[in-house]
Amino acid sequence: MIKYTCNKCGEKKDLMRATIAVIEGKVRTKEALCECGEYMQEETKDFEGFPNLIRTDPSLSKNGVRNYQRHLRKNGRGSEADDIDKKL
Ligand SMILES: [Zn+2]
Repeated sequence: MIKYTCNKCGEKKDLMRATIAVIEGKVRTKEALCECGEYMQEETKDFEGFPNLIRTDPSLSKNGVRNYQRHLRKNGRGSEADDIDKKL
């Protein structure tokens, strides 16, 4: 189970699975879309494991992810890029 919290309205959600997708230029979890329209954030930023719960969107190409990670690292957001590595 992965816990998500909405930064906008404080709504919480437990997800059994997470589909990673690039939405509006950001890596998001598809199932974590809140009723208010925001994407919720993972509560435990440093969680590891649960490889079976995480799958990537079939429409999201490996190259697309790599390009996005390069973009993050260039902008000093390497830890976010590393987070993606853990999820893939
Ligand atoms: Zn919300």
